[in-house]
Amino acid sequence: MFAMAQKMLQFVRTEKRMPDKREAAARRHDFDEIYGEFDQSGAEEQSSRCSQCGVPFCQVHCPLHNNIPDWLKLTAEGRLEEAYEMSSATSNLPEICGRICPQDRLCEGNCTIEQSTHGTVTIGSIEKYINDTAWDRGWVKPRIPARERAQSVGIIGGGPGGMAAAEQLRAKGYEVHVYDRYDRIGGLMMYGIPGFKLEKYVVDRRVKLLADQGVIFHTNFEVGRDATLADLRAKHDAVLIATGVYKARDLDAPGSELGNIIPALKYLTISNRQGLGDTVPDYDSGALNASGKNVVVIGGGDTAMDCVRTAIRQGAKSVKCLYRRNRANMPGSQREVHNAEEEGVEFVWQSAPEAFEGKDGVVTGVRAHRIHLGVADASGRQTPQVIDGSGYVLEADLVIKALGFDPEDLPALFGEAGLKVSRWGTVTVNFRTMMSSLDGVFAAGDIVRGASLVVWAIRDGRDVAEHMHSYLLQKAEAGTTAAAVAAE
Ligand SMILES: Cc1cc2nc3c(=O)[nH]c(=O)nc-3n(C[C@H](O)[C@H](O)[C@H](O)COP(=O)(O)OP(=O)(O)OC[C@H]3O[C@@H](n4cnc5c(N)ncnc54)[C@H](O)[C@@H]3O)c2cc1C
Ligand code: SF4
Repeated sequence: MFAMAQKMLQFVRTEKRMPDKREAAARRHDFDEIYGEFDQSGAEEQSSRCSQCGVPFCQVHCPLHNNIPDWLKLTAEGRLEEAYEMSSATSNLPEICGRICPQDRLCEGNCTIEQSTHGTVTIGSIEKYINDTAWDRGWVKPRIPARERAQSVGIIGGGPGGMAAAEQLRAKGYEVHVYDRYDRIGGLMMYGIPGFKLEKYVVDRRVKLLADQGVIFHTNFEVGRDATLADLRAKHDAVLIATGVYKARDLDAPGSELGNIIPALKYLTISNRQGLGDTVPDYDSGALNASGKNVVVIGGGDTAMDCVRTAIRQGAKSVKCLYRRNRANMPGSQREVHNAEEEGVEFVWQSAPEAFEGKDGVVTGVRAHRIHLGVADASGRQTPQVIDGSGYVLEADLVIKALGFDPEDLPALFGEAGLKVSRWGTVTVNFRTMMSSLDGVFAAGDIVRGASLVVWAIRDGRDVAEHMHSYLLQKAEAGTTAAAVAAE
């Protein structure tokens, strides 16, 4: 017992270490993940740095409240299968979160030893190691229900929110159908996030796990085109809307209609499809492929970072990121900005586009002006102000707009005027039940929160599954009672 306890708290003598990161020169040429994996001794050593806090702030600030100190201790003690059991008890996609959560803003940013300047425990990398090992050793099994229930649920959207809800509900014995308009399941994990952050086999093996569990997938099925919401409500005992947010925010600048000015998600989807081996004419023709081009990406969030780094890997001649504020005020993760800089991206801070210049209908440049950051507004961020006479032109053959996403008009798309949405277009839910304005129709993930994170979509998917289960139990009970009354 004493020996085990002594194994922890090693941060005083053991330095923080991440798994090896591939050299920028090598990773510029492929879409493989940039971090390697710990080996067992590396994972044990890094786990043993945890200070086993009485109040673990890492766990408090993890949206899934993962039991981090406990699985770090189990890993440090070499009890990896138990660490896996504990890690997977609170998360449906732990090896994915280990890879792509912005840990600096969540668990690791709140680690006590990070606060005391010793450098955080590398929680995300250890979570990835535990769960990748579980896959390698065959510990990850489909959660087959102990008994089947008579009711069925329809889930619109196969992203992380829909996948987490599907696994939870199927484990309880419901017949679960997932409808997705894409040809592959995974949502933005499949078609938005590039392979250098999340290789696609990692998503695929989770989708297969759900299929093995008995979840029924309907791909190329768009609600609004192939069925209305009313059709799904008639077919299932409850419905979940987990459709994410896909309407790209646009830029109203002269010249926007020129060719080769495209929204970020279109660009990333094409690149991901090409990586998955699909035939993509727009890529093959060179039209939407950055190879040999001067690329300008507009925006400062994580989507912009994914675009600039994709363009580098496609062999762009130059890649510039145009952002109206400065580095300190960027919404994107600093870790990703650093990775992008290492790979050769040039950041043009405090600059905003004014118009696009073109020749023969195709963009040739971005006319921009410099920005002064003025006094802070109500949100505490400095207000960008244009500096008069500061205009200049950046050469560009491909411009990618990464300005964020809004929800689509779901009531119109689904043919259901009774579906209440907020003034931003997100689905309005009762926060106690996660049910929308329509009886038996629930909502979760980005379509409720607005553009957010995979880990929050998983959290919502797990929570909504519990609420749907309560609703379905009540509905089954009411049905049994009604049948008994009718029989009397
Ligand atoms: C480029 C990019 C990079 C990102 N990087 C990160 C990151 O590094 N880390 C992180 O945590 N988060 C990241 N995010 C955010 C994260 O991907 C989302 O927050 C998360 O995927 C939301 O999950 P969701 O299940 O709500 O929706 P989504 O993942 O968007 O899935 C929704 C699904 O619904 C389907 N759908 C939509 N409408 C219909 C319809 N009418 N009928 C049928 N199906 C429909 C879509 O095809 C899609 O598959 C990134 C987002 C983008 C765009
Ligand atoms: S899910 Fe994300 S926030 Fe939670 S422990 Fe894992 S990496 Fe950290």
